[in-house]
Amino acid sequence: MRVAAFANPGISSSYTKIRLDKNENPFETPPGLIEELRMSISAVELNRYPDQEAASLKNALSEYCGFPPDWITLGNGGDEILLNLMMAFVPRDGCLMTLSPSFSGYEQMSGSLGVRVKRIPLEFDGESVTLREEKLVDALAASSPDMTIIDRPNNPTGLAVSTEFLKEVASLTRGVIVVDEAYVEFGGGSFLSNQEDLPSNVFVLRTFSKAWGLAGLRVGWGVSKPELCKKVEKVRPPFNVGVLPQEAARVALGYSEWMRARVNTITYTRDRFIEEVKRIHGWTALPSKANFVMVYSKCDREMTEKTFKKMGIHARFPDMGALSEIPGSWVRVTVGMEEEMGIVLDALKELSYRI
Ligand code: PMP
Repeated sequence: MRVAAFANPGISSSYTKIRLDKNENPFETPPGLIEELRMSISAVELNRYPDQEAASLKNALSEYCGFPPDWITLGNGGDEILLNLMMAFVPRDGCLMTLSPSFSGYEQMSGSLGVRVKRIPLEFDGESVTLREEKLVDALAASSPDMTIIDRPNNPTGLAVSTEFLKEVASLTRGVIVVDEAYVEFGGGSFLSNQEDLPSNVFVLRTFSKAWGLAGLRVGWGVSKPELCKKVEKVRPPFNVGVLPQEAARVALGYSEWMRARVNTITYTRDRFIEEVKRIHGWTALPSKANFVMVYSKCDREMTEKTFKKMGIHARFPDMGALSEIPGSWVRVTVGMEEEMGIVLDALKELSYRI
């Protein structure tokens, strides 16, 4: 990996803004897709409401994932689907179970709905983060949550719990299990295999925002048995996905080879970045199945934040939930271009002299 020269810590002005804080895809939309979109936009009737059923996008997704259209739910990003799921299945004062830490959106949305949250702590052994599965199983029995959301891979740690364990969880509860696969294309394998094997209380969430590189489009989708889909449909605002996002997502599905090639580049860069971080004194990087890496050091957080800022690196210093008791710097770095990762490595090296 090319590491940007870092002879002088005062050279921050030569760095431009490096956006590694939102787990976006660093690659630009392919020109062929832009051209196709340009043409299809002129054919779209903007004076009309979008197709409420989004039939052509659902058909295209059905072909892509192998599940029938009436098993598919759409939303204005995965975020809206999560909110709709909570509204559909968790009553006010009901209980939502999640991992701690996990995607911050779960807390924000459940808070706005007055839902209680049961958090299952992840554990850190100095090198990796794990879930003690029996803790989740015990909590399931004790709290009988209305809904359990497992982000897999987990945001912000990159941990992917096993699909076998998720199957066991689904069989132990009457509540709904949301398997949040926002980052699944980057590793860990999907929970979705075939129709017969999908338990009737499981909803698998996907998005165009990460591997597909279309975060600005705001299209999320999910797969579940039709009975479960119908309950989500009852709370879904009828025109939640506009004509342009519907059409753009449909066209984008024709670029799955482009997507897979970019995912390969990102995972290659990710794995090399993890190795490089581990070579730096005082820093470690958690294993990751996503397009981001959690790096950790005992180094003072304020100092790390200042150094990142000085070098123009935007990374995330997330709420680490159950792990926030562990002092030091927890930094979630989105995997960007190789040059950008080189600059992050420079920042970590500079900090390592002070540990
Ligand atoms: N799930 C997880 C775990 C996420 O990290 C995110 C976004 N960062 C989402 C869902 C929602 O993504 P979007 O609304 O862009 O589809």
